[in-house]
Amino acid sequence: MEILECNRCGKCKEFCPSYLIFLRESFCPRGRFQLSLLLQEQKIKENDKLRKRIFSCLLCGACINICPLQINIPMLIYETRAKMQKKMFNYFFKYFSLYPKFFFSALHFLGNSKILCTILKKQKKIPSSLLEKFFVIESKKAEKQSFKIYNKIKPKGRVALFLGCSTNYIMPSLTESLVSLLSNENYEIIIPKQNCCGAPLLSNGFKEETLKIAKKNIETYKSFNIDGVITPCPTCAHFIENIYEEITGESINVIQISDLIENLPVNYTSESKIFFHESCHSSNYIKETDKILNLLTKLGFHNIQRKSGCCGFAGIFSFLFEKESMDILQKKVLEYEKADMIITSCPNCIMQFKFAMKDKKIFHYLEIINKILTERGEKNGRKI
Ligand code: SF4
Ligand code: SF4
Repeated sequence: MEILECNRCGKCKEFCPSYLIFLRESFCPRGRFQLSLLLQEQKIKENDKLRKRIFSCLLCGACINICPLQINIPMLIYETRAKMQKKMFNYFFKYFSLYPKFFFSALHFLGNSKILCTILKKQKKIPSSLLEKFFVIESKKAEKQSFKIYNKIKPKGRVALFLGCSTNYIMPSLTESLVSLLSNENYEIIIPKQNCCGAPLLSNGFKEETLKIAKKNIETYKSFNIDGVITPCPTCAHFIENIYEEITGESINVIQISDLIENLPVNYTSESKIFFHESCHSSNYIKETDKILNLLTKLGFHNIQRKSGCCGFAGIFSFLFEKESMDILQKKVLEYEKADMIITSCPNCIMQFKFAMKDKKIFHYLEIINKILTERGEKNGRKI
């Protein structure tokens, strides 16, 4: 990876969620840039203080868009973490990424065992808020993964789904919405046996393992005769399209769902005050918010306010920095207090918000579109 020289202009600072919470130079993008270089040049030694600075980056990408030199700090952080010593928590995420089904089955078991859950919380092995977050959504037992295909007689196109662990194991009903919407658009759909995209591996410094999982996923999806891959998770979308290209030289063609949805009913009007929360990966990497907002407006939601800014989840960040993750989340809770409904495109942000705002209506945009289409279809006596 080519490392450009930071001119220390500081423009990135005020957009970095990590800096805004720690308020220290060494926690801002240019601080991490300097620390990473010094470590790589062996001018400083690895210790707990340094690890804290490097692992408190949420990899949100806000700094890339603001930096006049477009220095890719998250890629530099991935490289730095790969060179650092691995700790217990790194291995926890490694095995989570390699065996998500086992991990979520264990979580499901835990969810049904209040005593075990209480012991774990008391021992503080896992942040208690993180445990609760996994249960606020659906907490269904992980289904057996198998290849599925939804055929069409004269399809408009053929796509394969990459669901991502959050959708697959925490919000499985999102898959039903996605399949229903794509079927309504007359697309043939393939759901291959699912793997993790590898984001938790790279975030924890396991570069070789990420490379293996990336190659496996590329091989799987390239073996189908498809127009492209669809995913309901912006983190997976960024990973399988951009990061795979960066680390393997090959990418998977990701189609944005908003480009495929055309059949929307007219004459629907909602007066609800809606806040559309733009996740970090949507706003800073895959940039599909304009198209999603267009769809929602066409659908009849005219009172939408676009909001961006990190929700504080970021996987390993909420594991290692529970208090700071909650502080970032709390800012969002205050900001979103006046909304009747929150719509977003990220399953992880949904998990975070449902945990903190239990009485609020919170949806993935695919769920809300599918809900309205289904209600309309039923009213008109036709099945969509
Ligand atoms: S990726 Fe996000 S958290 Fe990390 S340095 Fe950049 S702005 Fe800060
Ligand atoms: S905006 Fe870019 S060049 Fe300026 S301080 Fe941040 S990383 Fe360095």
